[in-house]
This record gives sequence, structure tokens and C-alpha cells, in this order.
Amino acid sequence: MSWVKTNQIIKKLFSNYVWDLPNNENKVYLTFDDGPTPEITEWTLNLLQQYNAKATFFCIGDNIRKYPEIFKKVIDDGHSIGNHTFNHLNGWKTSTNDYVENVKLCETEHAKVSTEHCSLFRPPYGKIKPWQSKQIRKIGYKIILWDVISYDFDSTISKEDCLENVLKNVNSGSIIVFHDSKKAFSNLEYVLPRTLEFLTKKGFVCDKIK
Ligand SMILES: [Zn+2]
Repeated sequence: MSWVKTNQIIKKLFSNYVWDLPNNENKVYLTFDDGPTPEITEWTLNLLQQYNAKATFFCIGDNIRKYPEIFKKVIDDGHSIGNHTFNHLNGWKTSTNDYVENVKLCETEHAKVSTEHCSLFRPPYGKIKPWQSKQIRKIGYKIILWDVISYDFDSTISKEDCLENVLKNVNSGSIIVFHDSKKAFSNLEYVLPRTLEFLTKKGFVCDKIK
């Protein structure tokens, strides 16, 4: 398995990317990739609301096209939205031109539903070439990666280990990755309520990335 907690060397080496958001208010940043997904995104929104938590959703353009009303609900609930390409492209296997076009396609889908500005981008799989990154930043995006990855999408890890990945590694300023996708749900269903409970008890505030 790859790392769960991003180390300082990687953060320094790739300082054009946002890995965490250090602050003095005990804020942490939950993020959900790959939605919107019927039922699962709504389940996530409900739970966040129960804990008065705000989060950031990195949506796939093609899923926005299929489920615009769920996408709209995410925005209406006061969460942040990020671009995650239209087709969930792997940057390492895609030409820069195709990659940037796909990001713009996601942007177009977003614009059909909401006028809410979006300046956050997360490359699918965390895989993006330097030139792609440069182009994406040039068109106005901040590239958001993560401090803690839960591996909720990995069906070979137990839900208990998935929870431990998060609870052991979270600290003030952490950006944490979850997925509101079908593949991740058996882990997410277990991990998210317990994470929110833990964070609340520890006095953390869940905020959205702006
Ligand atoms: Zn993804």
C-alpha cells in the first residue's frame, strides 16, 4: 500500500499543490471525490448536516451531467465544489491538451447547474504531469491534494483499518480524502460517522476549502 499520511518531503517537493491548510482554529477539511452518486452523496450530506460539518466535493463532470439535482443539493447545503475532470482521467496517460479540455468540459457541466465559482481542482488518482498542472493553474485553479487518505475505495482493507488510517493521522489543517462512490461505500458507511464523532469529541471543526 502507498502512504496514508503525506510526508513533509513530498509537500516541500510539490509545493505548487495544496496538501494541507495549517490554521489556529483546529480546522480540518473533509473531501469527497468521484460523486455525485445517487443515495450515497445524499447519505453523506445528511450525516454532515447532523454534525454541522462543511466539506468539499470533487465531482466528476459526467456524474454532474447524470445527477445535476444531487450536485445542486451539495451546493445548496453550503459545501465547496471542486473539479475532478469530466471522465476521471489519469493525467499520466493523457496528453496535456486532452486533459485541460476534459477539465473545461467538467466546468461546462457545472455551469449548467450553478453559477457558483469553482477554483479547486483535484487530479484523479493524484496523477498529474507538471505541464498539465501548470496549465490548470493558469486557468485559475488551485490544485488540492491531501494530507490523509483513508483508502476507503480499497476493498482489500478492512473498515476498521480504514478508520484507523484517518483517526491516527488527522491533525489541525489536515485535508482528508474520502469517496462518495459505490466502490467506497461499504467502508465509508462505517468510517464517516465514526470520524465525525471522533472529530467532534476532539474539538475539531470541519470546514470547506475556499
Ligand atoms: Zn477520483
